[in-house]
Amino acid sequence: MTSSQPQPTTTDSGSPVVSDEHSLTIGPDGPILLNDNYLIEQMAQFNRERIPERQPHAKGGGAFGTFRVTGDVSAYTRAAMFQPGAETEMMARFSTVAGERGSPDTWRDPRGFALKFYTSEGNFDLVGNNTPVFFIRDPMKFQHFIRSQKRLARNNLRDADMQWDFWTLSPESAHQVSWLMGDRGIPKTWRHMNGYSSHTYSWVNASGEQFWVKYHFKTDQGVECLTQAEADHLAGEDGDAHQRDLYDAIERREFPTWTLKVQVMPFEDAKTYRYNPFDLTKVWPHADYPLIEVGKMELNRNVTDFHTEMEQAAFQPNNLVPGTGLSPDKMLLGRGFSYADAHRARLGVNYQMIPVNRPKVPVHSYSKDGGMRVENVSDPVYAPNSQGGPKADPSRAVYSNYFAVDGDMVQQAYTLRAEDDDYGQANTLINQVMNDEERERLVGNVAGAASGVQSDDIRERVYQYWKNIDKAIGDRIEAAIKAELAKNESVKGGGRFD
Ligand code: NDP
Repeated sequence: MTSSQPQPTTTDSGSPVVSDEHSLTIGPDGPILLNDNYLIEQMAQFNRERIPERQPHAKGGGAFGTFRVTGDVSAYTRAAMFQPGAETEMMARFSTVAGERGSPDTWRDPRGFALKFYTSEGNFDLVGNNTPVFFIRDPMKFQHFIRSQKRLARNNLRDADMQWDFWTLSPESAHQVSWLMGDRGIPKTWRHMNGYSSHTYSWVNASGEQFWVKYHFKTDQGVECLTQAEADHLAGEDGDAHQRDLYDAIERREFPTWTLKVQVMPFEDAKTYRYNPFDLTKVWPHADYPLIEVGKMELNRNVTDFHTEMEQAAFQPNNLVPGTGLSPDKMLLGRGFSYADAHRARLGVNYQMIPVNRPKVPVHSYSKDGGMRVENVSDPVYAPNSQGGPKADPSRAVYSNYFAVDGDMVQQAYTLRAEDDDYGQANTLINQVMNDEERERLVGNVAGAASGVQSDDIRERVYQYWKNIDKAIGDRIEAAIKAELAKNESVKGGGRFD
């Protein structure tokens, strides 16, 4: 059959249908009939097309590609995917955090940078952001943080008071909020932003030595950003600008690449390092732990069905392979549970059987049954057994999940280290990394975002928050917000952090 002769339409069970255009009726003018199986199937299927959107990171897109190792980090990890010359199929999904599925790509927000590597030892996922830090450091606050950035209960509107109330009462957010309000808070495209694991993970080498590691995916396209005005314009003109840009670039065969570099900390250093190296609100300064090149990631294949390949893609930080592991970062340990649980809730317990999530190695687990299981399970269904079922081999599964802990059960903040405070690294970013023009734009961005705050108390806290980071910047922000309010006394609702 040639392409000019289409295949006959069938129902979902494969039987040919009579018409694509006309329902079954009694005479051409008569009522339609409930026994028109094809019509009923089409209507019922349509009503169920949408699955719950992600909460958060609902708006996003991505592509498939390859990761090739160009360096030699075998001294630090035995993971097959990181050995010299290894090449691994992978996929990436980029997203905003707070916006819903149809929201504009250019809102000021961190960008999700989620990666799945289909390695020869099972799937390895890195579920990072385009920022090296995060707003909070304890998973107890995550749900509250996201709610504060989303919508009010009473009217479903976004709200500057709620956003700044949470931030100013959570001083650990200062570093990430400074980052967000700077130029990099709105990337020009997904191709023009870096990706970071943000968390500290662990590696273990072939001799069993363990290291702490942070992953940095540096864009080879160069970092480029949008101003607030450019982003606002694009949000109205093309809300899908970032998704379109990536898709079109790949169709043009302009394949974007990122160079993976890592910071590696010797295991023992963590005990005495001047910052808590597991605190997600802090970076490890490059001067302390320089970047080491690992390899190159290239995105070179677009999805052909967005729903099955992107909407149903499920990333989880606890998809680890031998030679890699988690760390005592409380947020990371919390995410180890919450991501898999989100997928079970959104996609069903057998989400790892969906082709995009399925590893490219044989699966020999004892999981069975559950909704939408699509492969036969064979006996025995229990372990230990004498029936030849799978048997764990600890010598093959060298994970680096070791960390020594000793203490009472408590609900307390991390123990402070010599230089652990909430404002120091934010100050470094503003004063030592940003130049004068960038600082000026930062002040304008904060004024735009916070001038929608209605509460005098919260607004006072906003001024103090920035003065705690840097007195001079705080003064400028206070003056800029007051000028903005004077200019437009009728400002209502959410600010431009939306
Ligand atoms: P370095 O001078 O070695 O590095 C500065 C880093 O800042 C570079 O990674 C650079 O990314 C990044 N950067 C440049 N402009 C901006 C911006 N407007 N917003 C956010 N990041 C930017 O400094 P240190 O390692 O000593 O860190 C100093 C500060 O830099 C930190 O407090 C942190 O805020 C920020 N930073 C640090 C990172 C780290 O892992 N150490 C990573 C990213 C930011 P690039 O090289 O890609 O241009």
